[in-house]
Amino acid sequence: MNDKPEKLIDKKGLRLDGRKADELRPIKLEVGIIPNADGSAYVEHGKNKILAAVYGPREVHPKHLALQDRAVLKCRYHMAPFSVQERKSPAPSRREVELSKVIRESLEPAIFMEYYPRTMIDVFVEVLQADGGTRCASITAAALALADSGIPMKDIVVACAAGKVDDTVVLDLMDAEDKLGAADVPVALMPNQNAVTLLQMDGILTQEEFEKAVNMALEGCRQIYSMQKEALKKKYVNISEEIKEEAEE
Ligand code: ADP
Repeated sequence: MNDKPEKLIDKKGLRLDGRKADELRPIKLEVGIIPNADGSAYVEHGKNKILAAVYGPREVHPKHLALQDRAVLKCRYHMAPFSVQERKSPAPSRREVELSKVIRESLEPAIFMEYYPRTMIDVFVEVLQADGGTRCASITAAALALADSGIPMKDIVVACAAGKVDDTVVLDLMDAEDKLGAADVPVALMPNQNAVTLLQMDGILTQEEFEKAVNMALEGCRQIYSMQKEALKKKYVNISEEIKEEAEE
């Protein structure tokens, strides 16, 4: 990592990558890109590049984990060995085990688990490139993949973080801000239910700063939610265009 810059926010109030305090990184969302999976999504969130694939509902393995009245949701968050500058061991780290649990708990409230007793829904998240805020981008990607799979959901889930760098509360921290900043507050939201499914805090904030960060993250979530809707719609526009082209041939 480079030496710590003197200031993470310059005199004009701009951040290391030129963003304003309340500005998201550029985001690109796409669904249906892994045809083998029942649902899939690809997310670019700043320099993060993340794939999510959903399989199921399918038979539970091992069988004794099956629940009689609901489905079992399994999540695996994994960072590719080439996703960060120094090679990351491909074996699951403590952090990846924790993030798998955090992502599962953020998604589960949105899914009608009781519709599929004695089955398992598998969610795989593969981080191809990481640059801070991968848990949030992974939740956004996994929720899109679930929606793409057609599994009935009460709502989609969308996630975004806010935090504090130097003395300013900012939206959507990148890796350098995450490492050198004072705090990071990831939030996941079901936008139509207006229900928060994840709220964590890493670092120290005053109560006022915390409230500001949560509200900023929620606003970020709402912006990403409209991009999720567009990504889902786009898939069906593409399909109808393909059908039209085939009919014309
Ligand atoms: P999040 O990605 O949700 O912010 P963390 O706060 O744990 O989760 O991680 C922050 C960032 O640190 C990651 O997004 C990634 O860029 C970087 N990072 C995580 N694990 C490693 C690792 N093993 N080696 C190098 N960088 C890492």
